[in-house]
Amino acid sequence: MTTLRTSAQLCDRGLITSEQCAALESVAARYAVALPPALTQLIDCNDPADPIARQFVPDAAELDHRPDELADPIGDDAHSPVEGIVHRYPDRVLLKLTHVCAVYCRFCFRREMVGPDKPNALSPQALARAFAYIRMHPEIWEVILTGGDPLVLSARRLRAVMKELTAIDHVKVVRIHTRIPVADPARVTRDLVRSIKIKGKATYVAIHVNHPRELTPEARAACARMADAGIPLLSQTVLLAGVNDTADVMGELMRSLVECRIKPYYLHHGDLAPGTAHLRTTLVHGQALMAALRGRVSGLCQPQYVLDIPGGAGKAPVGPNYLRSENSSVTERDAGQETRYRVTDYCGEVHFYPPRP
Ligand code: SF4
Repeated sequence: MTTLRTSAQLCDRGLITSEQCAALESVAARYAVALPPALTQLIDCNDPADPIARQFVPDAAELDHRPDELADPIGDDAHSPVEGIVHRYPDRVLLKLTHVCAVYCRFCFRREMVGPDKPNALSPQALARAFAYIRMHPEIWEVILTGGDPLVLSARRLRAVMKELTAIDHVKVVRIHTRIPVADPARVTRDLVRSIKIKGKATYVAIHVNHPRELTPEARAACARMADAGIPLLSQTVLLAGVNDTADVMGELMRSLVECRIKPYYLHHGDLAPGTAHLRTTLVHGQALMAALRGRVSGLCQPQYVLDIPGGAGKAPVGPNYLRSENSSVTERDAGQETRYRVTDYCGEVHFYPPRP
């Protein structure tokens, strides 16, 4: 089986009907399509609401662009001092090594920037300028390799990038964001794992997983190869309507991640990427989902629900608020008493802190 890249191939594989084929050609011409075998085989062609297909098989709704959607929804360009670098927060930068991915997610927030028709990787000159920028900024403590998917690069290229970063004293942490362990687990070879470890620095890998079915035995084995090599693993998940927007599915996903030694890190609210309205939920729904998770799965399994503020102002935690001031009256504060709060437990019951005497 090979990676499916055209609507004709999707049709031959039974993932779309011949009636849909022509209409989806224009979607595929606008936004890159790639469905690798590891994910294709997870799709139940008889289920019109299959959560794996929903993430990766193009949909005519992608041509429905809403006025509030943005080509660069999280404002990368506004914070890019040199090609390949996004410097949004003082102590860390993104280093975008490539625009290519093993799979193209239909909700991708960088969908206007990724794809095989975009430059494959930073030119050697652009990469040298990106390293020079990191060297010249001693406040940069962490470099986040992202893309595209940095793990599509060869072990040789990754080793060269890591070597450059090792030589920069003030860079202490390298974090790699990737979907490769689920999209193409065989790619995570022992050689590739060795290539991303650096002496004297910490390498973290944040794995993008949205549904428990993505954690196949092969994907779990790929994650284990990294964990066994001493690489701490984190997850990032995008909240998607019809994919993982129920407490049952999200709870199972978070537990499965922890079983694979992957600490749930971020649950992203869907970004305002063009043509993705059919995959977004509301913030209220996301908060209710997080509240439901609080009650049913271990603290180890709790991600942080975040919204990337459109335009580039960064991430804000947007989970439910469990603490409210009961009484902030001037009299109480003047009397030197601590404000009393209402705090909600995991069953939804309200308590007072400090408790009433
Ligand atoms: S793997 Fe990441 S960068 Fe690539 S299409 Fe999916 S979400 Fe976008």
